[in-house]
Amino acid sequence: CGIVGYVGDNKSVEVLMGGLRRLEYRGYDSAGIAVIDANGKLNTAKRAGKLAVLAAELEAHPIPNGVTGIGHTRWATHGGPTDGNAHPHLGDNGKLALIHNGIIENFAPLKAELLAEGYTFLSETDTEVAAVLLGREYQRVGDLAEAFRTVVSRLDGAFTLLAVHEDQPGVVVGARRNSPLVIGLGEGENFLGSDVAAFVEYTRRAVAIGQDQIVTITPDLVTVTDFFGAPVEVEEFDIAWDA
Ligand code: GLU
Repeated sequence: CGIVGYVGDNKSVEVLMGGLRRLEYRGYDSAGIAVIDANGKLNTAKRAGKLAVLAAELEAHPIPNGVTGIGHTRWATHGGPTDGNAHPHLGDNGKLALIHNGIIENFAPLKAELLAEGYTFLSETDTEVAAVLLGREYQRVGDLAEAFRTVVSRLDGAFTLLAVHEDQPGVVVGARRNSPLVIGLGEGENFLGSDVAAFVEYTRRAVAIGQDQIVTITPDLVTVTDFFGAPVEVEEFDIAWDA
């Protein structure tokens, strides 16, 4: 239900948890984060329940900070509100993490296709199908944005998707259809959010992502394309926010 992405300084855990707190007003039943640490290892934490439950989990089992991460609050549509169904979901043998807002209408035939190829699943969600599909494509092409282009062409429904991969630290890639996604522009850091509340503490400069577009953020660069990889002109706006 809420999404935040970050690349920049070595403070991902704080940025993600702070962003999720500012998105709490939207309602949710579970929460999770994925961070690539300084050694290039992907670490995730996810729990059913309120953010306080996830925060307690992070107290008990801290995950190291990093420059790259994604965070999610879930409002369950497919699969009950359990720890296992909470996002992020993993692909490419645990090297890739993905979060999702929305519903992938055709997840059942896609899951059948992947099961027939020998892939296994840890959740009942529609979302995990996108994570496994993205992992399969990543193995083929070795680039997250390119892998995303193939995956979105297979998905029906509504989605905001964000993903990170251990082999591409310093990169968060997102895609959207029928579900919102906004970029926050910083100095040596960039943000993604399902709405500007996710990053308003850090920047008032934003860019809305249009329908059927893919965005790649690094600490210094923001690239937006359509679903076929053609570059898209973007327009910056100032966030008017009394906070
Ligand atoms: N359909 C997904 C799920 O049930 C995402 C729900 C959401 O938007 O939070 O896990």
